[in-house]
Amino acid sequence: MPWKPTLTVVSQMTAASHMTVGLAQSILDFVYPPQCLFCERALPSTWRARDRSCQFCEMCRSQFVPPAGNTCHRCGTPLGLYTVSEQGCLACLRESFAFDEVIRLGLYRDELRRACLMAKNSEGALLGRALAGLLVEEHRSLFTPGRFDTIVPVPEHWLKRLGRPHYAAETIAREIAHQLNLRMVTGILAKHRWTPKQARSSKTERRHQQHDSFCTVSGLSLKGQTILLADDILTTGATASEAARVLKRAGASRVIVVVLAVSPPTA
Ligand SMILES: [Zn+2]
Ligand SMILES: [Zn+2]
Repeated sequence: MPWKPTLTVVSQMTAASHMTVGLAQSILDFVYPPQCLFCERALPSTWRARDRSCQFCEMCRSQFVPPAGNTCHRCGTPLGLYTVSEQGCLACLRESFAFDEVIRLGLYRDELRRACLMAKNSEGALLGRALAGLLVEEHRSLFTPGRFDTIVPVPEHWLKRLGRPHYAAETIAREIAHQLNLRMVTGILAKHRWTPKQARSSKTERRHQQHDSFCTVSGLSLKGQTILLADDILTTGATASEAARVLKRAGASRVIVVVLAVSPPTA
């Protein structure tokens, strides 16, 4: 009679493999002590018990995450303590975004700005993943189980992706999908029109450049779904809004933008 593993044997084997992975990790940590992925300071031994998905020292974490406070749910702008933002804040009240909400880690300035730029680099995938892990950790209450159906990264034109080992929006989306056990779909939204670099474009120019730059490319139905739309930075919202508009045209009922950083409002 052929040998069949029983549940007890299988669970013992699983426990043994977890022990082996744990032992290997401990040896690796001994040979290469873990460092903060941003400033490269050695991490204290107490860090090892924590989630490996956001490998940052306390100083960097506190620089990336703004102090807890009131935030406009529509654009991610920090607000005064008693400001009501049901319809949006002064920064976004006149904007007609196609997305419904913004979840962000922090503001695109100082150390988080530097980290976002580093995460765009060819060697920035690990940093991008860690920042996405920190974002999830900081906003657990917004990522309630069952709230989202799918996560979609904001796509880039295929020519801009040539020769790049990773693409920040996709790296971030993949990590969030992993953390939240969500389905990530990359084959439904495409950027079919090349758009110029937007760094020096005005808000109106950006909106004009992004108009009709996305399309849906598969017959996958998004009917009634709540989509997380992932990107690294939200500047004017023109790109995310255009992508959200196309996702809603494909049936999505709500689109929530999730980004590492939003541009702070200009004075
Ligand atoms: Zn650090
Ligand atoms: Zn706002």
